[in-house]
Amino acid sequence: MSLLNRLAPLQSLFGQAGRGLLDALYPLECVGCGATGKVICDRCAAGLPVLLPPFCEICSVPGDFARCPACAANGRCFDGIRAPFQYGGVIRQAILALKYGGIKAAAPQLGTLLGDYLNDNPLPCDLVAAVPMHPRRRRERGYNQAELLARQVSRRCGLSYDGGLLVRTRPVNPQAGANSAAARVANVTDSVALADGQDVAGKRIILVDDVATTGSTLQTCADALKAAGAESVWGLTLAVTGARPSAE
Ligand SMILES: [Zn+2]
Ligand SMILES: [Zn+2]
Repeated sequence: MSLLNRLAPLQSLFGQAGRGLLDALYPLECVGCGATGKVICDRCAAGLPVLLPPFCEICSVPGDFARCPACAANGRCFDGIRAPFQYGGVIRQAILALKYGGIKAAAPQLGTLLGDYLNDNPLPCDLVAAVPMHPRRRRERGYNQAELLARQVSRRCGLSYDGGLLVRTRPVNPQAGANSAAARVANVTDSVALADGQDVAGKRIILVDDVATTGSTLQTCADALKAAGAESVWGLTLAVTGARPSAE
């Protein structure tokens, strides 16, 4: 039984306090092999599913085309999405641990992976921000994993970070529940707005999220930022999935 499965009942019993206690009591285990110390040990890190060409020049969805059907058909609001990995294997397990397993301690290592990727593959940037989470969902989870990743990226790359740029205007169902691309788009439409008092005119923004599936969440955020005059909006995620929504 994985660490995640063993801890899940304790987490639901004790909520956030229990989570903090568990972080202190249990050292991190590698999600790939169970070795103690890191969420991804050095051996498993060497085998991560690096995203290699061919992939869409805009949204990075893997496939033998210059632009995927979605990017070829509609104008995308974002300038592009970049990611170091394909969604699968150990990186998928690590993202699930951070996102659904309450393993907040996975964020520094995953954010560092993302920051190192950005240092090697720079994007135009005045400001790093995270895809926002509705306050209710944030209370339930105890943190916004995209925010933890974005903070670490900004530290690692020496870039400015703004934690209050965007707000959710209504809670969205987890993308996991939307089983078609159309449902996913409907699910996030109009759910993000620029926070009061924010001025992004002329700014080049990098938006961080854990994973890009259809790109519809990043599209919604970029739409709000571009409408407010942002010069460019790039999505930066740990992983991209194929063009079709996966089971999670
Ligand atoms: Zn390992
Ligand atoms: Zn594309």
